[in-house]
Amino acid sequence: MNSSENQRSRKTLACTAEATAFQKRFGQDLRRRVIDEGEPFAIVQADTPHEIFHAMDIPIITNQWWSAYISAKQLSSRYFDAMVEAGYPANSCKYCSLGLACTLANEPETAPWGGLPTPTVLVARLTCDCIQQVFGQWSQALGSEFFPIEAPAWEDKDPDWFAHSKSDWERVYQPDRIAQMVREMRDLISLLENRTGRKFEEARLHHLMEQINVQEGFIWEAAQAIGAARPCPVSIAEQMPNTMIPQWHRGSDWAVAHARKFRDEVLERIAEGKGAASNEKLRLMWIGAGVWHDPGFYQSMEESLGAVFVWSMYMPFAGPAYIRDIKGKPMEALASRVASMNETLHLPPWMNGWMTAEAARCGIDAAVMLLPPDNRLSQSGTKLTAIALEAAGVPVLMIDADMVDAKIWDHDRMVAMVSGFLAERGLA
Ligand code: SF4
Repeated sequence: MNSSENQRSRKTLACTAEATAFQKRFGQDLRRRVIDEGEPFAIVQADTPHEIFHAMDIPIITNQWWSAYISAKQLSSRYFDAMVEAGYPANSCKYCSLGLACTLANEPETAPWGGLPTPTVLVARLTCDCIQQVFGQWSQALGSEFFPIEAPAWEDKDPDWFAHSKSDWERVYQPDRIAQMVREMRDLISLLENRTGRKFEEARLHHLMEQINVQEGFIWEAAQAIGAARPCPVSIAEQMPNTMIPQWHRGSDWAVAHARKFRDEVLERIAEGKGAASNEKLRLMWIGAGVWHDPGFYQSMEESLGAVFVWSMYMPFAGPAYIRDIKGKPMEALASRVASMNETLHLPPWMNGWMTAEAARCGIDAAVMLLPPDNRLSQSGTKLTAIALEAAGVPVLMIDADMVDAKIWDHDRMVAMVSGFLAERGLA
């Protein structure tokens, strides 16, 4: 599998260690609340309205975080084997189903937290053909229930959605899609109130939405500074935890304060002319989810080739995907945030429109695109996005690999593939 050990990432910012320490404490606290004290909790997809749960103080486990957590512990192969032994096809998609695989393997001795207890509800948007199967069967295996949220078609094909999403969200995300999502969020709130006894207050959500605008504003400011700076002060290996850990806690006092701290450290490094690499020559774009089983991969060509991964979707997404003029309508503004999260990241024309604009904004020299062999949705807009980037003068390398399944990942082979591609294109 690996000709050399998958590698940890190097930390240059003080706030990165603080973020991972906070998430570790959060994990321990969540474990105490849901395992030891039996508090109600929910398992949710990343593209669902987390703000509703935060506003009701109901703990959530985000499926993509749990999947990355299991993968980072190098446990994915074991659980995917258990899924095949249970009769599932070996080419089942991976990212969303690793949590289900862990539950089906039923190995408390190896599973993080000894495995998850029964949640109050599992929530996912029906963004692909597989998700209702994954969440439906997982809720059965856990003895809970699945609350599906529709993913209605998006007829307003504005490739420049990102330039209009903050103030013109009613038009960009379509009033009927927003109304549909608000109806479903109100149904979800009723279910949560009935099952947990917790009360939903719209004023609390409104405040949270304002706090989230502040938080994402700091992250977007840092993203714009990184795009313009030469050399790049912070590689994606550190951009991702400093963006996503606050994202899981968005709007909380800790998340807002951490986003500000991160922004400040980035601006400080830029002012001091500090780079992620000692001799930056190439600015790379990573397209796709993070490779959670080998976070050190992104930094592995910094010293050898001066090749720095400057861009991944997580940090710049904070601006156009999250910031909203609330206009006295927090539920509708939230619905517009959630209603197209996956579509803008994975489907044309929104994916290629945004990523081509981002490549220009950040002065990208080449892009590396993750093609998870068995994932339907994350495959969708990749080829058209690669064509759009190449047409814009950005060479693209597509690699068959998975964000959580380490079985098909070989660190040295991947580094050699990227280096070879850069040489072939006359960039290294
Ligand atoms: S295809 Fe992708 S998005 Fe759909 S359930 Fe599988 S991993 Fe998740």
